Amino acid sequence: MDTIKTRLAGVRQQIETAMQTYGRDQGSVVLLAVSKTRPVDDILDAVRAGQRSFGENYPQEALEKIQSLRREPIEWHFIGRIQSNKTRLIAENFHWVHSVDSLKQAQRLNNQRPPQLPPLNICLQIKVDPETTKGGLSPSEAGALAVCFSSLPRLRLRGLMTLPAPTTDPRAQRLPFRKLRLLLQHLNRQGLDMDTLSMGMSGDLEAAIAEGSTIVRVGTAIFGRRDSQPSFDPDNLQHQNLKE
Ligand SMILES: *Cc1c(COP(=O)(O)O)cnc(C)c1O
Repeated sequence: MDTIKTRLAGVRQQIETAMQTYGRDQGSVVLLAVSKTRPVDDILDAVRAGQRSFGENYPQEALEKIQSLRREPIEWHFIGRIQSNKTRLIAENFHWVHSVDSLKQAQRLNNQRPPQLPPLNICLQIKVDPETTKGGLSPSEAGALAVCFSSLPRLRLRGLMTLPAPTTDPRAQRLPFRKLRLLLQHLNRQGLDMDTLSMGMSGDLEAAIAEGSTIVRVGTAIFGRRDSQPSFDPDNLQHQNLKE
């Protein structure tokens, strides 16, 4: 039976092969293990196999795990929908937030980031594909919001994130990722210093690496299929498509 350790090794190999195929520099792609709905023991298995970065979507569920794993050398990334009443929890407990899509969210995270912690790393979530109902800024809104970050000293704007509509066609998979890369390059040329493209999941990580991803967010391929959602949590609606 496949264990988390063997699946993790398989994903690392897949990333390594894609990096070689597409001429990516060694160390230029980080694997974020998406542990939403997974128990603490699964996370510990991955930590023992050398995994350091974990992604969570639901603040309350994440907080319990973060507290029980305090002693582990884990970097926590928030990748879920941000509700205003959860920004303090996120600002106090995470190292990164990938899913910021409004100035109001950014201001709250900035004001609530504890002064003794380093600035919170932020990615703006972009809706590159206008047909998808998932959250995110349009590419044209991203530049204006990115400029505002200079007045938010407790945040560090690192880059862009996208969550495209799933498709199994490898060529179609690359299109939204290419759009995100071109948007980052455009913003870089306007003087915005960002280095991160958070894109690619279990089913499309090769396409994302081909287009320049620097963080792939992988859940299913490491932990197996998520057959149950956590007990009801309003943060949980994003993945049931009840939003919008
Ligand atoms: C769940 C989730 C992932 C991981 O998806 P898998 O297909 O299980 O790899 C990545 N990014 C976000 C934003 C997610 O919500």
